[in-house]
Amino acid sequence: MAELLIKGGRVIDPAQGIDKKADVLIEDGRVAAIGSGGTGVPPVGHRQDACATLDATGLIVAPGLIDMHVHFREPGNEAEETIASGAAAAVAGGFTAVAVMPNTDPAVDNEAAVAFQAAQGERAGLCRVLPIGAVSLGRKGERLAEMGQMARAGAVAFSDDGDPVRSSRLMRTALAYAAMLGKPIIAHCEDKDLAGKGVMHAGTWSVRLGLGGIPAAAEEVMVARDIILAEATPPISDFGFRISDLRSQSAIRNPQSAILHITHASTKGSVRLIREAKARGVPVTADVAIHHLILTDEALAGYDANLKMNPPLRSAEDAAALRAALADGTIDCLVSDHAPHTAEEKDVEFALAPFGIIGLETTLPLLVTKLIDPGLLAWPRAIAALTCNPARVLGLEAGTLAVGRPADITLIDPAAEWTIDAAKFRSKARNCPFHGWPVRGRAAAAIVGGEIKFRHR
Ligand SMILES: [Zn+2]
Ligand SMILES: [Zn+2]
Repeated sequence: MAELLIKGGRVIDPAQGIDKKADVLIEDGRVAAIGSGGTGVPPVGHRQDACATLDATGLIVAPGLIDMHVHFREPGNEAEETIASGAAAAVAGGFTAVAVMPNTDPAVDNEAAVAFQAAQGERAGLCRVLPIGAVSLGRKGERLAEMGQMARAGAVAFSDDGDPVRSSRLMRTALAYAAMLGKPIIAHCEDKDLAGKGVMHAGTWSVRLGLGGIPAAAEEVMVARDIILAEATPPISDFGFRISDLRSQSAIRNPQSAILHITHASTKGSVRLIREAKARGVPVTADVAIHHLILTDEALAGYDANLKMNPPLRSAEDAAALRAALADGTIDCLVSDHAPHTAEEKDVEFALAPFGIIGLETTLPLLVTKLIDPGLLAWPRAIAALTCNPARVLGLEAGTLAVGRPADITLIDPAAEWTIDAAKFRSKARNCPFHGWPVRGRAAAAIVGGEIKFRHR
């Protein structure tokens, strides 16, 4: 029987309300026991000596981190990132599972494409790679993709990310299917007409820098629309007779789960809309990208194309509202929105460069350095946003160290001091604005299904 004992760490498992020094025993790829007080884990008893151990003294032992919004560029743009290189970046950043967006070339809009991505993830053999299917065929926003078939092939959610679902009628139908399948629509909220040809947040800085602005309202009108549509969608329980046929066997889905998940919320107004919707009982959840919490539009003064992303970096007031919303639970999850581009693509005039920055290998240290160390966010809340909350949104078995669950575990060294060096990334891409930043905290190890997939040395 394959066993591993993680000894002496600070175990933080928000799903079980655990935050204490304890040992964690893994047997056959699953969590077998958690024992506290340095007295060892009861069930192993005399076998403890024979069991492989991992010394976690000074480390945080958390459920494996989940990034529910990343872009790997396979198929179609393998020079930017492959599923294997993206998975390597994920485990090095402490992520044991990632949900990959379907805006590849061609788009992941059918059963075979979902199965291909899942198979490539298996082949890479690092983190769990969870495909997200497109909402519309070719992500064109015209005809609904075969969501039921993609769900059966393993899609954990649906999204046209990169673009919004422009048609309200299509979005309404998609939400109804999502409710029936028990899998959420992940909404990239952007009114394309309002966003126009903008390349950064519309505000005093866009005027000063002479760059086209994307108003906050371009996001907020779509957040409002999607909330209205979600509110009008019948509850999942009304579709109960079909859920048993269609949902995947491994999924554990609370019938109360949201059908609308708003991704990369970036404005104060979006936060307000989400907060009000949740208070009314609308089935909505949300995430925020790490860069929107720690950077503002002022950073664009140097015209660095590695700071160009969509939605754009907003005002200081927006960033403060997002931090407060993550701390109070209005925003459920934290993501990287890891979006690889080649140096050639980014090394052009700011206005012409593609949107997006990578983040799998910098999210954890930036979280520690900019939010946890300064006291803006507590460890259990931060870990919930990266574990049990995304697991709940996506209906995953992972996200907790409860006995019997898969042994997906991240060991975090909260005190490690180092300097971000983009040249050392496992990702193929280097479009990272944090190169050279001094940071604290990093992944010490990533364990997936009881196997150590990454260990910092
Ligand atoms: Zn997006
Ligand atoms: Zn994205």
